[in-house]
Amino acid sequence: MILPGKTIGVLGGGQLGRMLAQAANRLGYRVHVYEPQVNCPAGAVAQKEVNAPYDDLAALSAFARECDVLTYEFENVPAAPLKAIENLTKLRPHWSVLETCQNRSREKNWLRDHKFPHARFEEVPAGGDLAAGIRAVGVPCVVKTADFGYDGKGQLKVMAEGDIAAAVARFAGQPVVIEQFVDFACEISVVLARSESAAVRVFPVAENIHTNHILDFSIVPARVPPETAAAAEKMARVLAEKIGLVGVMGIEMFVAKDGSVLVNELAPRTHNSGHYTIDACPVSQFEQQVRAICGLPLGDTRLLSPVVMVNILGDAWGRGEPNWKDLLAQPAARLHLYGKAEPRPGRKMGHFTVTARDADMALEMARKYQVRL
Ligand code: AMP
Repeated sequence: MILPGKTIGVLGGGQLGRMLAQAANRLGYRVHVYEPQVNCPAGAVAQKEVNAPYDDLAALSAFARECDVLTYEFENVPAAPLKAIENLTKLRPHWSVLETCQNRSREKNWLRDHKFPHARFEEVPAGGDLAAGIRAVGVPCVVKTADFGYDGKGQLKVMAEGDIAAAVARFAGQPVVIEQFVDFACEISVVLARSESAAVRVFPVAENIHTNHILDFSIVPARVPPETAAAAEKMARVLAEKIGLVGVMGIEMFVAKDGSVLVNELAPRTHNSGHYTIDACPVSQFEQQVRAICGLPLGDTRLLSPVVMVNILGDAWGRGEPNWKDLLAQPAARLHLYGKAEPRPGRKMGHFTVTARDADMALEMARKYQVRL
C-alpha cells in the first residue's frame, strides 16, 4: 500500500491530471506532474512540474525515481519510454494497457480477440487502398486515424459513395480504421476502477450527448432500461479484468436501436463523462484513481443525486468572458474551471454540473444555464 504522504507522479498535465492532483492532495499525497508544455493545468496545483518531452529518457527516469507510483492522464503518452523505465517505480495501469488503448487498430483487434461486441471494422495500412476498405465495410462508415485520435480529431464520416474521394484525399498515407456507422439510440459510458487485489467498483452509467464529436452533456443516471445499464456494467467489469486494469478506466459504448450494447472506445484513465462523480458521488473518479493505484480500499460509487455535467469549451468566450455570475447564483449548479489561459474553440476550459430531482429536470436546467453563459 502506498500511504498518504507518498508521491504520485502524473504523466500529462491537463485537466484530468489537475483534478487527480486535487483529490490526491486532499488525501495528503504529494503530486509531481510531467508534461511537455509549460504552465499546464495540473502543474498549477501540484507540488512539482517537470517540462520535458515524453521520450526524454533521462528526464523521465529522474522523474520516476522521485515518485512512489506513476500514472498517466493522457492517452497519447508513448508507451515505449514507459516500458523502458518500468523497473524504476510502479506504473499503474501497466504500459501494455496504454499501448492497447492508444491505437485504434490495436484497440479494435483486442475487442475482437476478446469477443466484446463492437462495430464491424477494417484496417487499412499507410499507403493501402482506402476506397477498397471503405467498400468492404460499406457506406455509411466512419474513417478514423489509427493513432492520436480523440474528441473526433482525425475522423471523417462517409455517408454516401460521393464522400469516398474526399476521405481518400484526407487520409492518404496514414494508417486508418474504417468502422461501420452505428445508427445508435444513444451513447453511454462506464467509468470503473480495479485494484491490484482485483476489487472492482463501477460508477453509475452515464448517457452522453456529443456536439461536433465533443462531449457536450453527460446525464446520470442514463435514461436507458435497467437491463441495458446492467449489461453495460457487466461488460465493463469483464473488460477491466481481461485487460488487467489497475487504476481507472472509461469505456465509451453505443446502445443500438435493438437495445444491444457495443464498445466504441477504451480510455485507461479517468474520463470526461465521469466528472459528475465529483459532485454527485461519495468518492469521485479522481479519488478512486488515487485509491486504485495506491492499493487503498476502493470508495463508494453510489449516486447521491441525479446530475448532468456540461462541458465548457473555449467557444463560450465568443462574446467575451462567460457570465459566471449568473451560473454561480444557481444553487443547483457547481462550476469547475481548469485554469487554462487561452480559450480556443473546441478546447475544454471547464465544466459545470447541475443536480436535480431527476435527470430530465437536471438536463433542462443545464441547457438553460449553458445558453446563458
Ligand atoms: P470517438 O473518437 O471514436 O469516441 O468518436 C467520437 C464520436 O463520434 C462518438 O462519440 C460518436 O458520437 C461518433 N462516432 C464515432 N464512431 C462512430 C461510429 N462507428 N458510428 C457512429 N458514430 C460514431
